[in-house]
Amino acid sequence: MPARAPADRDAVPIYCYRCGGCDCLTDAFAPVSNIPERVVCEHCGSKETHRVISSVAYHASQSSRTARLDPKYEKMVDSAMKKSASADENRLIERMQRRSSERKQ
Ligand SMILES: [Zn+2]
Repeated sequence: MPARAPADRDAVPIYCYRCGGCDCLTDAFAPVSNIPERVVCEHCGSKETHRVISSVAYHASQSSRTARLDPKYEKMVDSAMKKSASADENRLIERMQRRSSERKQ
């Protein structure tokens, strides 16, 4: 088997195994061409593990992406919240003022 390019190593997915003994999840790294049937549970040492559909790799990259964006994202959310909150407030006040002025007329 030819040596893989370093870029390929970055793409090694994480597999997730649920333990039949303690119901914990164990993560395993393996190339797509060599997915282990089962792994030893890292929590209780049981080999009664079965692979579950893994979204761990996806989650990991998603959360790290989110973490990288977090400061900006939070600021964006903050300003958006402030805008929408004040906008709603102003709208509400306007509506109330309109209503009270309509009543007076
Ligand atoms: Zn276990």
